[in-house]
Amino acid sequence: MVSFKELGLVNTREMFAKAIKGGYAIPAFNFNNMEQLQAIIKAAAETKSPVILQVSKGARNYANQTLLRYMAQGAVEYAKELGWEHPQICLHLDHGDSFELCKSCVDFGFSSVMIDASSLPYEENIALTKKVVDYAHQYDVTVEAELGVLAGVEDEVSSAVSHYTKPEEVVDFATRTGCDSLAISIGTSHGAYKFTPEQCTRDPKTGRLVPPPLAFDVLDAVMEKLPGFPIVLHGSSSVPQEYVDMINKYGGKLPDAVGIPEEQLRKAAKSAVCKINLDSDSRLAFTAAVRKVFAEKPAEFDPRKYCGPARDLMTELYKHKIINVLGSDGKA
Ligand SMILES: [Zn+2]
Repeated sequence: MVSFKELGLVNTREMFAKAIKGGYAIPAFNFNNMEQLQAIIKAAAETKSPVILQVSKGARNYANQTLLRYMAQGAVEYAKELGWEHPQICLHLDHGDSFELCKSCVDFGFSSVMIDASSLPYEENIALTKKVVDYAHQYDVTVEAELGVLAGVEDEVSSAVSHYTKPEEVVDFATRTGCDSLAISIGTSHGAYKFTPEQCTRDPKTGRLVPPPLAFDVLDAVMEKLPGFPIVLHGSSSVPQEYVDMINKYGGKLPDAVGIPEEQLRKAAKSAVCKINLDSDSRLAFTAAVRKVFAEKPAEFDPRKYCGPARDLMTELYKHKIINVLGSDGKA
């Protein structure tokens, strides 16, 4: 048993309380490798933004859970080296799918876990979430739960259709489970293809897809039922067209990739939405930078020469999100 406190990590409790009060959101960035982690920490340290490092099932399979945890521990020290005196870094399990997995993360030094039982029937979702909360809270580890179903594919989490969260369920759910935050479904979705062209309209000037707006009425209804309760948005990448264009220009093939417009996320960040998950955008930045190097310098074979530019582009992306979308800069 390792306490996250020994590792210099923090849970989400205070982070979220401050974010709701201050009208901003905490970035939750997924990481799978060193360059991504360096970019996240550098961006957070330079902007003095609290940050949530997320480990998904796919990341655990890819990079190994043990290694990722020690990387997060190292990230705290790296942040200090960068001049961030009291780093506000949370290590969070993204989409935990069983009690055993959540328990193993709590025991291993994670400061926050998500139990995603949203695909189960309502009462089973409550029972499993409560079991995780009861265990995690003994160690002051915070728990995110989910109500409603998001569409799209994120690692091994996938659903063809979304079902918006039912506002009439949230009070009962939050009260009976004791969860610390709630991921809701209001039209965001996982991946770089959040909407089909049929769901979108096309901008006549640019020919680009314009996605349907998020269901802010559902968010408003949830906030009315649960005033001041921390709300989480998954699948909130905006799929920056500059990266999509770069990927396509340098030999990639991402037709009609489309995400959530940043102005909608900006609006959400000012509300009780206090954690916004971003993964696909950094994948796009990484891929765009690597493709550019490969196309322009085909003789290059030192991974540092293409992972380095990828890291730089991700750092720029993370800083942009922190400063211009979430508003969490200067809050840690
Ligand atoms: Zn998610």
